[in-house]
Amino acid sequence: MLLQVYAECTMNIFSKMKWPRLRSVLGLVLAVVATCLVGCGGAQVTQPTTYSAEQIAQLEIFAPRVTELRDRFPELEDYIQSKDWVNISSFIHGPMGELRVGLDRVAVRLLPQDAEQAQYYADEIGAHLEKLDAAAADYNQIAAGREYREVLDDFDTFIGLIPDETT
Ligand code: ZN
Repeated sequence: MLLQVYAECTMNIFSKMKWPRLRSVLGLVLAVVATCLVGCGGAQVTQPTTYSAEQIAQLEIFAPRVTELRDRFPELEDYIQSKDWVNISSFIHGPMGELRVGLDRVAVRLLPQDAEQAQYYADEIGAHLEKLDAAAADYNQIAAGREYREVLDDFDTFIGLIPDETT
């Protein structure tokens, strides 16, 4: 965004200017741009900040598969509350078995800065579900409840990174 503004300003200046002054102005512009790149984090300047129609169309396919699984989480809460250890495990390995792949498919399609965060939360969700599975194997309701709340928090944060119109 910032670079575009610079580019447009630079074009305007150059078009009204004679060649001898061009080099000094060019030097100045480069110095300002370089300062900004160092000062404001260069990598983010050139990253896209909006989705293309094609990216949105892709997310419209993959995002609902993830949000549908999120909607099923209350089932898991019921199993934990009723200490239904067998069904906790079945649920994690059954309906949630596809979750990890689904999260990854969405994460890679997000804007670069969001994709990185989404990947982090996808890893967190996977880790909490593994711990929840282990807690169920130990008949440990307290640990299971804790992991359930953690996985829910991380899942909601993940969904918050997805553009609203695709969820
Ligand atoms: Zn977490």
